[in-house]
Amino acid sequence: MPRKKSFKRESHAESINLKPGLIIAAHGGNVDVEDDKAHVHNCISRKRTGLAICGDRVIWHSEPNQTGLIHEILERKSLLARPDAHNKLKPVAANIDYLIISLAPTPTAIQNEETKLIEQAEDLDLIDFHAIDRYIVAAEVSHTSAIIVINKVDLLPESTISEITARLSIYANLGYPFVLTSTKQGLGIKALSELLKDSISVFVGQSGVGKSSLIKLFIGEEKIQVGSLSKVTGQGRHTTTSTRLYHLATGGSIIDSPGVREFGLWNIEPEKIMHAFTEFKPLIGMCKFNNCLHNSEPNCAIKKALQNGEITQERYDAYKKVLLSLGDPR
Ligand code: GDP
Ligand code: ZN
Repeated sequence: MPRKKSFKRESHAESINLKPGLIIAAHGGNVDVEDDKAHVHNCISRKRTGLAICGDRVIWHSEPNQTGLIHEILERKSLLARPDAHNKLKPVAANIDYLIISLAPTPTAIQNEETKLIEQAEDLDLIDFHAIDRYIVAAEVSHTSAIIVINKVDLLPESTISEITARLSIYANLGYPFVLTSTKQGLGIKALSELLKDSISVFVGQSGVGKSSLIKLFIGEEKIQVGSLSKVTGQGRHTTTSTRLYHLATGGSIIDSPGVREFGLWNIEPEKIMHAFTEFKPLIGMCKFNNCLHNSEPNCAIKKALQNGEITQERYDAYKKVLLSLGDPR
């Protein structure tokens, strides 16, 4: 969020020490700042400047041999927040370009792993498309783009992969690219790293879909284990709970923590959902009723677009299902 610059109030001696940086690790008010020479400095982030989080661009200040101080958090272009233990929305990562929506064939498929291929499954039921729709809404609400990753494709027969690909092309046409991956066979990893270049991304998705396996391929296990925050505090547990930003050798960065991975959709007003369906946006406000939820209201612009093929049945159904899943009474 924009904050007024405070340079003028600083003394000259102090102001020459103000430097730009990027938050690459955050644990409460204890943060690591990377400067423009890729050196890392431990800093304190105080409540009065707002708590800096991973991905934040900041102005900071250092004294020799002392912990630095965050002076200012620069405007965030996107923000991921999730409820804490007290159900209070807490920011977890900033300036994210891509939410990588990670899925895998459903657990039934995973249990059949020894058979390698799932012979008789209902092809499209193997992927939870409703979860994709919810994550896309969460991405749009947070002002990030989305990439869909279907992992463990080594478990799927060719015919199923074709069906899933056809269905995913609906998303690709709307600007949400997809990649089919297998960490076991190294499939799709190069294609995914191409998409992540020059951006900050986070992997989200249910436990067990292969996020750790994918992230390890990009970052390397040793780097995940060793964090400078643990060095500073002398307590290893901080490395597992703090959110960290990792630069990828292939370009781009990943922000990761258990909290970030669990990011999802909650507590959104029904009226906001339609704004998260990108192709609905130009039609919003053109229905007969101002508060139209495009369900069964008469003279609905969205329903008309559905009838003349501008909106696909799949996306309209997805919209209704997300609306219903969030408990709208209408
Ligand atoms: P996370 O909970 O999303 O981080 O998932 P993990 O990375 O821990 O993976 C869960 C399980 O799926 C592990 O047993 C992995 O070995 C397995 N797994 C991960 N990627 C693949 C894949 O591409 N193919 C198959 N068959 N199994 C995978
Ligand atoms: Zn309508």
